[in-house]
Amino acid sequence: MTDHFNPYEMAKSQLLDAVKALSLDDRVYEILKNPMRVMEVSIPVRMNDCSVKTFIGYRSQHTDVMGPTKGGVRFHPGVTLDEVKALSMWMTFKTQVLGLPYGGAKGGVIVDPKSLTERELEELSREYIRSLMAIIGPDKDIPAPDVNTNSKLMGLMLDEYDRVRGFNVPGFITGKPLILGGSLGRLEATGRGVAITILEAVKRLGLNIEGLKVSIQGFGNVGKYTAKILVEMGAKIVAVSDSKGAIYKDTGLPIDQLLKFVEEGNRVSDFSEADRIEAMQVFEVDCDVVVPAALENQITGEVAKKIKAKVIAEAANGPTTREGDQVLYEKGIVVIPDILCNAGGVTVSYFEWVQNKMGYYWKEEEVNNKLQEKMVSSFDNVYKMYELHDVHMRTAAYMVSVGRIAEALSARGWIK
Ligand code: GLU
Repeated sequence: MTDHFNPYEMAKSQLLDAVKALSLDDRVYEILKNPMRVMEVSIPVRMNDCSVKTFIGYRSQHTDVMGPTKGGVRFHPGVTLDEVKALSMWMTFKTQVLGLPYGGAKGGVIVDPKSLTERELEELSREYIRSLMAIIGPDKDIPAPDVNTNSKLMGLMLDEYDRVRGFNVPGFITGKPLILGGSLGRLEATGRGVAITILEAVKRLGLNIEGLKVSIQGFGNVGKYTAKILVEMGAKIVAVSDSKGAIYKDTGLPIDQLLKFVEEGNRVSDFSEADRIEAMQVFEVDCDVVVPAALENQITGEVAKKIKAKVIAEAANGPTTREGDQVLYEKGIVVIPDILCNAGGVTVSYFEWVQNKMGYYWKEEEVNNKLQEKMVSSFDNVYKMYELHDVHMRTAAYMVSVGRIAEALSARGWIK
């Protein structure tokens, strides 16, 4: 991988931009440029055919100066150590844009979960947690879902943790099933947060959410709920893709029908109520907002040149390359950066953890209202920084975030 596309190099240079823009002590960069702890584990799984297969997994914990570390676990064949390190750094910056009492972490296992049976996947999930026992816990490092992991797997991971500890610790993991102490609203939270930030951005640009044309790359948990909630707000979803292909309908896709079609196990590109287009064309179609809701490095310089939208809402982590960022900035496209845009998930994870600690659970409306309040005030902080310093929205978000961490480092006596 060239440095251009290495997410860890990307995360470090984004941090450096913010440290420079805020004229902070060099030591802030020196302290934050590496994760504080990284663990690599080899996980043997007894396969259904009686063979044993080992999978490599990681957990990266970036910094605990703001609180215990927090972040999801992804199961994907493309996982690398540098990717996990970068994702853990982005989690720190994300939690600090939102002002949550956490530092960042991320876990990953190199595996295509579709190639495993249900039992093999369960064993992998349980063994992954067992191998990390020494470094995880409700006041140490709290996992959650990410790419290809869901509430069902969180339930199994929680069970494994509880069995080893010998008692129930619901606050060990978030995004778990409701019956085990999950929070109402958590499933939709990332998508809801993305939609809230889009609404805030279009208000600032003098656009109307009613009839706003949106194109979405990716139809996993985040893409699905972003689409659903945007439609409830009055927007039209004109294009959607998954990893195999994409569909387009200028007058707006019937999202409820598409959700049902995909829930039944079908591919987005087989949906017959729309025109088929190439997967990457979701970035080129005529629309107001593009939502990358898949993986890293999707909006390269070349892709950015073709974008016609006025707003990019980064529902995925790290979807835009450095070159892509530059092109978007020059074209005057407003980027709602990942560390703000997709922070709804970890925000409701925080609410889940708080409810677990209290042992008292909130109504869905209460969760959603609290999320709304957090997302709007964080958007506001970032937008003010953006206007005040005339920088890229991403740099503005990092400035809010890194400013807070620098204050904590100073209060802890690490920098003067
Ligand atoms: N994986 C999600 C993210 O990247 C959620 C993390 C969490 O809830 O801790 O933000």
